[in-house]
Amino acid sequence: MAQMQPVRGTHDLLPAEMRRHRQVVETAREIAERYGYLLMSTPIFEFTEVFKRTLGDTTDIVTKEMYSFEARETEGEGGGQSITLRPENTASVVRAFLSNKLTQDLPQRFFYAGPMFRRERPQKGRQRQFHQIGVELFGVAEPAGDVEVIACGQHIIEELGFAEHIALELNTLGDQESRAAYRTALIDYFQAHREGLSADSRERLERNPLRILDSKDPGDRTVVAGAPAFAAHLTAAASDFFAAVKAGLDSLGIAYKLNPHLVRGLDYYCHTAFEFTTDRLGAQGTVMGGGRYDYLVETMGGPPTAGVGWAAGVERLAMMLAADPPAPRLVALVPIGEAAEAAALPLAQRLRKAGVAVELAASGNVKKRMKRADRIGAYAAILLGEEELATGEATVKTLADGSQQRVAQDRLPELLAALR
Ligand code: ATP
Ligand code: MG
Repeated sequence: MAQMQPVRGTHDLLPAEMRRHRQVVETAREIAERYGYLLMSTPIFEFTEVFKRTLGDTTDIVTKEMYSFEARETEGEGGGQSITLRPENTASVVRAFLSNKLTQDLPQRFFYAGPMFRRERPQKGRQRQFHQIGVELFGVAEPAGDVEVIACGQHIIEELGFAEHIALELNTLGDQESRAAYRTALIDYFQAHREGLSADSRERLERNPLRILDSKDPGDRTVVAGAPAFAAHLTAAASDFFAAVKAGLDSLGIAYKLNPHLVRGLDYYCHTAFEFTTDRLGAQGTVMGGGRYDYLVETMGGPPTAGVGWAAGVERLAMMLAADPPAPRLVALVPIGEAAEAAALPLAQRLRKAGVAVELAASGNVKKRMKRADRIGAYAAILLGEEELATGEATVKTLADGSQQRVAQDRLPELLAALR
């Protein structure tokens, strides 16, 4: 029955997979906090305008990938308006920054984690519902801001344990003046190579030639390989800014590869653009991407406010983890006989309140209960029979070596903590 399958491009996260996700998110949150980025969360849907206005109507996300629907008239305020499941979180965080009137209290540092939605072709490392973590820094216009967010991203990757498989690629998109000059140069170049471009890119040519640099179409990629680089069109100020970012990274010993064709898929970036990439995930090799977006807050109707940040794909980072994070280890409480069964219930509860993870084996005979203890990988079984009940004790059996010891029930938390 089709309805009993997950929707194409979506996935269940069963406990083992969820532990990998959690390791990524928790590690990232903990590291981000050391840089002052605090966890926040925005709604999963926003008015469509929030994304349309910011992402630009020539991006793939806006033209093809958004899940939008109409708010029903009966829903009152906002009824009849178009609503979209968030395809990314920067626009929402800026919206929240403005709605909550935080623009006079700068700088602000945010960390977020949660699901995003894009209608794209599902493949390994590319889902329609996927998860991102990210940081956003508002109000730091200096290159130190770019260095800080990159250093934080690098630190998270190091902490996750696979930094040796990740490369940092770096580019600058300059300021508006540099960008206008580059735009003209690009249009000239792509005009001259028009026949080699995909239909999509030909359409983008006049409106947003920078976007073509980001195209995944193989024909486009060939044309792009020969395209002029940004460097020649940078203003002195933009060039100095980039030099300061590189010097900051050098001073932290963070290695990077300059990639003159790296552009972020979104329209609001300027100056620094970067991606952390890997060759271990096939075509979906970008695990983290970000840059500076000094024009974004203004685009959304706020005061001119510097911004810089990144977003990373949790699924892709989780795939890079070398080891499965272990499940929490349980102890199995195995009552033997009716009286013991009655006494096991409050004992299990007492142990849990004392911090012990307990599964109460309540079905089947004793043999079956012991088998179950093995299957869940319990480190010990607590046997509770009539004799133990009479003396207020319990028998603790270590499952690895079969050794047994009788202890007072009050001493169980202490003993179990030692056995674990
Ligand atoms: P790509 O080039 O892979 O499509 P993107 O430029 O669209 O990536 P961003 O919008 O920068 O990606 O999102 C940041 C990160 O989120 C990506 O580097 C990637 O790790 C992850 N990501 C983006 N889209 C998906 C998706 N559909 N499924 C899983 N992860 C994704
Ligand atoms: Mg994409």
